[in-house]
Amino acid sequence: MTIAYIGLGSNMNSPVKQIKSAITSIEEIISTKIIGMSSLYKSKPVGPQNQDDYINAVIKIETKLVPYQLLECLHDIEEKHGRIRKEHWGPRILDLDILIFGNEIMVDEKLTIPHPEIENRSFVLAPLIEIDPDCIIPKKGLASDLLATIGKDNIVQIQ
Ligand code: AMP
Repeated sequence: MTIAYIGLGSNMNSPVKQIKSAITSIEEIISTKIIGMSSLYKSKPVGPQNQDDYINAVIKIETKLVPYQLLECLHDIEEKHGRIRKEHWGPRILDLDILIFGNEIMVDEKLTIPHPEIENRSFVLAPLIEIDPDCIIPKKGLASDLLATIGKDNIVQIQ
């Protein structure tokens, strides 16, 4: 069993509904159990600003899958929610990222773990800390120190 954290984001087609429905789908992933869930947060888009605000959340899971299997399951869920991969950083119905996967550190063409942008994203760090205040991100350090460095002015906890 490995403890992992998944980041969820949406800014299209009723984002709150998308996130809740994605969580239901994640609950159904084989050999995987949800053991923690953050509130929902609203954040300003990264990159192009001519798009709606995002809804974000983080969930904590326990899984027997390996990272590539988990990534495949997450891609299936993104597709089921109608995601079309278009513009980098453009609007999206559903984005699911593996943030942390146990103590795993890996970089290849398909997967970078921990997620390479974790330390730059308050909408990831704040919900992560809400679930696990003492969370340590392999290779990067204490999540709360990273959040203190970037601040969290651009996010609002909504429910
Ligand atoms: P994006 O469009 O930002 O969702 O990026 C999608 C691609 O990023 C996927 O097809 C993955 O192969 C790759 N990727 C690399 N690292 C990760 C990660 N930690 N979690 C999810 N996707 C990742």
